[in-house]
Amino acid sequence: MPPDQEALRKIPSVEKMLQALASGDPEIFSRIPRSVATGIVRSALADLRKRVAKGASVEDPFEDVRATLGRFADTRITPVINGTGVLIHTNLGRSPVAAAAAETLASVASSYSNVEIDLHTGARGPRAKFLEACLATLCRSEAATVVNNCAAGLVLVLQHLAAGEKNEVIVSRGELVEIGGGFRIPEILEASGAKLIEVGATNKTHLADYERAITDRTGLLLKVHRSNFYMEGFTAEPETSELAALAKKSGIPFMHDLGSGAMMQTDQLAPLEHETTPWETLAAGCDLVCFSGDKLLGGPQAGIIAGRADLIAGIKKTPFYRAVRPDKVIFTLLQETACAYLDAASGETKGLPEIPVVQMLAIKEDALLPRAESITKALSDSRIKIGEGTARCGGGTMPKSSIPSVTLEFHLEESELEPFAFDLRTGRPGIVGYIDSGIFKLDLRTIFPHQDEKLISALKNSLLK
Ligand SMILES: *Cc1c(COP(=O)(O)O)cnc(C)c1O
Repeated sequence: MPPDQEALRKIPSVEKMLQALASGDPEIFSRIPRSVATGIVRSALADLRKRVAKGASVEDPFEDVRATLGRFADTRITPVINGTGVLIHTNLGRSPVAAAAAETLASVASSYSNVEIDLHTGARGPRAKFLEACLATLCRSEAATVVNNCAAGLVLVLQHLAAGEKNEVIVSRGELVEIGGGFRIPEILEASGAKLIEVGATNKTHLADYERAITDRTGLLLKVHRSNFYMEGFTAEPETSELAALAKKSGIPFMHDLGSGAMMQTDQLAPLEHETTPWETLAAGCDLVCFSGDKLLGGPQAGIIAGRADLIAGIKKTPFYRAVRPDKVIFTLLQETACAYLDAASGETKGLPEIPVVQMLAIKEDALLPRAESITKALSDSRIKIGEGTARCGGGTMPKSSIPSVTLEFHLEESELEPFAFDLRTGRPGIVGYIDSGIFKLDLRTIFPHQDEKLISALKNSLLK
């Protein structure tokens, strides 16, 4: 089909389109720098011309380009209300940090700071000394250090302990996991120059399997938390203390990749399974643990390595350590997060730390119900009901457990469901819920009480459409 010359002529120039946008939707330029918008508009128009040349009919070029630009503007990072009931939602930035930590960060980040100066001598000082001491206390370990994320921590430990002649790392076949985002334990090992020695079977690995695999080329015995799945049925694995004893007897370091970094007894917080804490596995004889900063710990993205002081000192000397060192932003958030735990544990009240994920895990449904009632009352819409939900930890943590929760249910026509969900997601702030059994739901456990007002007005708007 020959291109529709008339339709092609109707497609405006970049300049004309930008002018039309400036008068038709001026707000868009408060969300996208104009020079970036120009580039997006240029490629959107080129795309439009291509489509028209191929015979596609385009009703309104302005609307077409405006939608592309709007969609791009929605990728700018901004707060989102999480109604999914998944506490550690990787797509939504994993754990929100404590408000107090964010407040401290605001003052540190927008100023100079003592991140690497000894204020007593005026000379260069150690980075993260205070933070490392806090983390070691929290983990009840000899020493601790911090890198960009847990994956980097793992690579560092492998490069330090599983290199050269002794590059073999023994891992159970039941723990060769993919954590998500393409992070696979076997591939990480390979990329670090380590040689993976798989032992046991998927469902069963015995101490003797490890024992047989140990040679004079073994550099490390590695235990990996399964995180995002669990095994049930005909399964077996040695106790951590048995593995630790074997490692010690053989003179091989033993590391436990914990993943989530629980600093509380999760089974006492909520109806959850027990998540191994760093001090439990260290007390069982592990030499090193590593875990994420932004999973159950409730801090920023970071990888914490804790354990034997001599090993940590060695890790800090590897060249790669410099490549994965965090900055003042991470240090400050993590420092305030660690202090929140330490202060809560040593305070008179022995209360829970003001860490959002910890609070969200611990909150009782009785406390969520009045919020649900006042929201439904404010909306007074017969299509909205209060329901029961099941919140989850997420972030590859405690996949077996679900926590009873309270939801707002929106009983809409089936054809209205997706448009309603879209409308909420693309509002400001965006609100993310889920559709379950033909009902759109928002779980209140993961919505901060201070967001209720915004939620109500956004819902009012979307329900009127
Ligand atoms: C999540 C996870 C990781 C990766 O942590 P990041 O901080 O995202 O790099 C590594 N190991 C385990 C067991 C995990 O659960």
